[in-house]
Amino acid sequence: MFRLGVLLFLYVAAGGVVSPVLAQSKFKMGRKPKNVILLIGDGMGIAQIYAGFTANKGQLNMLSQAQFVGLHKTNSASHFTTDSGAGGTALSIGQKTYNGAIGVSKDSVEQETILESAEKQGLATGLVSTSSITHATPASFIAHEKSRSLDTEIAADFLKTDIDVFIGGGAKFFKNGPQGRNLVADLEKQGYQVRYTWQEAMQVNQGKLAALTAEEHNPKFSEGRGEMLPQSTTKAISLLKGNKKGFFLMVEGSQIDWGGHNNDLDYIVTETVDFDKACGEALKFAQADGQTLVIITADHECGGLAITGGDFNTGKVEGKFGSKVHTPVLIPVFAYGPGAERFTGVYENTEIYHKMMELLRLKK
Ligand code: MG
Ligand code: ZN
Repeated sequence: MFRLGVLLFLYVAAGGVVSPVLAQSKFKMGRKPKNVILLIGDGMGIAQIYAGFTANKGQLNMLSQAQFVGLHKTNSASHFTTDSGAGGTALSIGQKTYNGAIGVSKDSVEQETILESAEKQGLATGLVSTSSITHATPASFIAHEKSRSLDTEIAADFLKTDIDVFIGGGAKFFKNGPQGRNLVADLEKQGYQVRYTWQEAMQVNQGKLAALTAEEHNPKFSEGRGEMLPQSTTKAISLLKGNKKGFFLMVEGSQIDWGGHNNDLDYIVTETVDFDKACGEALKFAQADGQTLVIITADHECGGLAITGGDFNTGKVEGKFGSKVHTPVLIPVFAYGPGAERFTGVYENTEIYHKMMELLRLKK
């Protein structure tokens, strides 16, 4: 078994002490969770994680609190190296598809996503993202379009579901939908409380919430996004957790990937540490709740990042980039809670969907 090996290596490499959290597991093997929280760091490979870990002076929730670790293989049906459409769709429908696809098979046929299966079978559902909520990763869980670039069509697809909570950018695609349709009015007709800043969204304490927190993408963390991602994660959990049959929530740290495309290590570090705070919120809930499985992973690596130096005392980190685009390397999966032991080993990205579906007892 692969349990804790990577974590122990990281801690030893850090000259640190192995956290007691690593050694204990309050969950019996073979138990099934009531809730699943899937956290995706877009473009977050092992070097991005290690950069964040170093900059944060040797501490990340995803490393210190994970109970089981695995690796997944990201290649798409059309390309050796995936994009976020095919990468997100592999996780949402359990099939490899072509780059750019959103919730459709490699033959462009619509496939029910895990979020839709969960919704149909009585679970509460949510999506949180620092990009536009219509961007490839969140879109993959709720929309069915041949191309990720169809933002207004993707926005309209939100109205075809019964999702309970979504928080992210993309207001302009809802205000002015396909053929000029006002999707905000339609959301309100369907009972959503629509809010336009994340701070206002935090005031909503019950009912359905559509928080469109930016015209398109939310700002970078370094340019004033504040606690939008961790607080939105906590808010989504608090709105979903009352559902008797459980919930499925996907949270994305979208912009780690953009730091990779820009070959900007500071951008990667600040976005990774912010994403890890959201992971910390999910893990804190799961620890108290005892019935929640938390899965932390990425869709692919971006930038071909190598860490070439650093200092845990000052948080200084140095790196070099081998690419301006995505790379095909294996991606870590960190799991916590009932069913976490199922995520050890090395497997295709599509297996994550099948494991989550089985653990939540969902049928397509
Ligand atoms: Mg993304
Ligand atoms: Zn990218």
